[in-house]
Amino acid sequence: MSSALRREYLAALGLETWVVRGKPPVARETAPRDMPAPRDMPAPRDMPAPRDPGAAGDASPGREAGVDWPDLRARVAACTRCALCNTRTQTVFGVGNQTADWLIVGEAPGAEEDRQGEPFVGRAGQLLNSMLRAIGLAREQVYIANVLKCRPPGNRDPSAGEAAECLPYLEQQIALLKPKIMLAVGRVASQNLLRTEVTLGRLRQQVHRFGRSQVPLVVTYHPAYLLRTPADKRKAWEDLKFAREVCARV
Ligand code: SF4
Repeated sequence: MSSALRREYLAALGLETWVVRGKPPVARETAPRDMPAPRDMPAPRDMPAPRDPGAAGDASPGREAGVDWPDLRARVAACTRCALCNTRTQTVFGVGNQTADWLIVGEAPGAEEDRQGEPFVGRAGQLLNSMLRAIGLAREQVYIANVLKCRPPGNRDPSAGEAAECLPYLEQQIALLKPKIMLAVGRVASQNLLRTEVTLGRLRQQVHRFGRSQVPLVVTYHPAYLLRTPADKRKAWEDLKFAREVCARV
């Protein structure tokens, strides 16, 4: 990506470019002036043991061995494991490159996603696209999914029970995708994936691990939140660069 194009995407994020007074623009596009000095990647935190996909008595269709992408998509489309099946327009399975290194995970479909059947559309989706492009990734290069495949009515937070019922589908998507890194966007997705109530602010800038394969997981803000709170876009930019650094080391 050219530096001019990268600057365009950074501008879309509301981030400035460094310009040294009296000299031509600096080639680097890293923006925040108050960014801390680079530091070593933190050691992975201890995470709860992943649930056993083949646990006795677990009839989740997303946990069966040998499920491929079309099977899994069909099972999600027909799912009635929680009450959200009664209010959805359609399930929102996920979209993107099925061999992607990056898996982006949000919390649940919103109204527009429920209508279109695709995660991260509308203004939040456009900002997510800009965030990805700022680190050199096209939307088509990553895989994007949610913890929940059905929209909670009124865009309320998913209940713990709904998340528990639906998470096996995401786990199966991860088993098929084998990503190098997961980027959890937003508090709800992060807390459900990490099974914690720790605030998003405290989960940022650390390498967590997810699931049986211990995929590195980095946390950042949800683009819908950033649209409401543009002052935190700088922190999101730091998170994206951190995630890119983590991915490069995998
Ligand atoms: S939210 Fe998940 S578990 Fe609940 S009905 Fe939809 S696909 Fe099934």
